[in-house]
Amino acid sequence: MRAIGLISGGLDSALAAKIMLNMGVEVIGVHFASPFWSGEAGARARRISEDLGFPLRTIELGEDYFGVIASPRHGYGAAMNPCIDCKIFMLKRAKEIMEESGALFVFTGEVLGERPMSQGPRALKIIERESGLEGLLLRPLSAKLLDETLVEKRGWVSREGLLALRGRSRRDQIRMARELGVSGYLTPAGGCLLTDRGFSAKLLDLLEHGGELSRPEIERLKVGRHFRYGGSKIIVGRNEEENGILRGLKGPGEVLLEVIGWSGPTALLSGDVSEESIRIAASLTARYSDCKLDAVPVAYWDGVRGEVSVGRADEGLVEGLRIKWRGRPRLRLILERGGSRGK
Ligand code: SF4
Repeated sequence: MRAIGLISGGLDSALAAKIMLNMGVEVIGVHFASPFWSGEAGARARRISEDLGFPLRTIELGEDYFGVIASPRHGYGAAMNPCIDCKIFMLKRAKEIMEESGALFVFTGEVLGERPMSQGPRALKIIERESGLEGLLLRPLSAKLLDETLVEKRGWVSREGLLALRGRSRRDQIRMARELGVSGYLTPAGGCLLTDRGFSAKLLDLLEHGGELSRPEIERLKVGRHFRYGGSKIIVGRNEEENGILRGLKGPGEVLLEVIGWSGPTALLSGDVSEESIRIAASLTARYSDCKLDAVPVAYWDGVRGEVSVGRADEGLVEGLRIKWRGRPRLRLILERGGSRGK
């Protein structure tokens, strides 16, 4: 009997897969490659599939997934994490693979109560129903605390062999993984950027200013300190590596800035480019440079090279322009982008 397992690269899904394998289930793993996950997640998922001996299919999350993030029907968690919609999206795709491959059900590593937004009893039911997998979605780690699924009722797997884990402590999972010889999984610290408020602030700023989510835009959000000045965005590199990335990211109509004659960051100005926004970007560039002069010489390139002399941005300006987390998006943003809450 064949089943599709969602394999994130973390502990819970690895353990769920091992339990299924031990019950004689033929597992086909599916890993969703998200730009919001640690770059290591894919490698960990591959390693787990090789160690445990099951095939793994990797699916790149693209435009249709980004649409879910911009307007989730079930809203956001503590940051810009639309966990319920995210899981429904992935499970709908897993259901298609189940049908294509002749598998009988789908399983995940979800644990009742482990995550506040998406793993409460109500959320687990919504996810099961809206993914179209009613009765065919097994959560082996908490199954004994949940309603019996068709998978158990039909005797495809024995409920007796399933677990009754609950809550946020991963102590039991770590112990069981050790006992069952499961290793190589990603630690929780390497999790999803959508749950990080610093990153979420930048993502929300992008959406509120009419930006479209795409892989290149998401990569930009991961680099540098971000500032908003009206219709302009300024990204200032934090180290040499980021300076190099910013130089490579410059698109048409955008401006690169660097202090002349002193070491310091590279900055990238995008959106509205004007004499005023170039001066603001230059003062931020000067702020993070080694130059202590009252008037800092800054070079900029927007096709042709120019120079400007500015004072260093003071603390008030830096904090006023820095893109910070100000709370979850207003309902209006979600509705404007086509979502409908309250269903
Ligand atoms: S933490 Fe990230 S990947 Fe996981 S369900 Fe939430 S949004 Fe999706």
